[in-house]
Amino acid sequence: MKIHRFHDAEQVRVGIREGDRLWRYSGRDATDIGEVEEARPMPMAEARLLAPVAPGKIVAVGRNYADHAKELGNEPPSEPIIFLKPPSAVLAPGGTIVRPEISQRVDFEGELAIVISRRAKDIKRARWRDVVLGFTCANDVTARDIQRKDVQFTRGKSFDTFLPLGPCIETDLDPFAVSLRTTVNGEVKQHGNTRDMIFPVDFLIEFITAVMTLEPGDVILTGTPAGVGPLVTGDVVEVEIEGIGTLRNDVA
Ligand code: ZN
Repeated sequence: MKIHRFHDAEQVRVGIREGDRLWRYSGRDATDIGEVEEARPMPMAEARLLAPVAPGKIVAVGRNYADHAKELGNEPPSEPIIFLKPPSAVLAPGGTIVRPEISQRVDFEGELAIVISRRAKDIKRARWRDVVLGFTCANDVTARDIQRKDVQFTRGKSFDTFLPLGPCIETDLDPFAVSLRTTVNGEVKQHGNTRDMIFPVDFLIEFITAVMTLEPGDVILTGTPAGVGPLVTGDVVEVEIEGIGTLRNDVA
């Protein structure tokens, strides 16, 4: 199923999509949707979509596709490189990515995002599905010039609006071989498949939960395939993942 989070008369709501309609649920959070509320669904077009989850933390994985590591002049890593993005960077589907004045080079990075369903620590690979609610599309927007200048990734990856998420959480996805496409103004820039991840979803769950406790609603960004490039004012960037949908944002 496809879980959405949206604004409805000044309230944050969750719902489940069925075609072009949305069934409203009583819960306030994708990890606890509650009960279906009304006999009739609302038209999707009337829902002002929010990021499908409000994560407490976002753990991102760098250089998880060999062809992307190579395009930035890096060797494929021997174990996952992880870093954090702040919840304040999250942006809704349709929201505007704002390029900061101090960066001359802001890049898109289309990625598959994992949404965690329950508290998770020391989860073995074979049990990965027990702690995953589902998957959504993410754009790990990066000020590349600042990332290169700093030793840490934090500043270049953490500006407000640098994490578009959405449009929904798909709970029934098999994440090991789905295609991922990023377009800018309709032109295909990235066309990858999650089967090419160096460290697949189950490996990442074990690796990350060996380090830190993940909470319901936390998000893992699984890395970007080759083809990253710059965004400029007026661009429209779309991250499309098979079985989930399309995350569309404009740039200012
Ligand atoms: Zn990334």
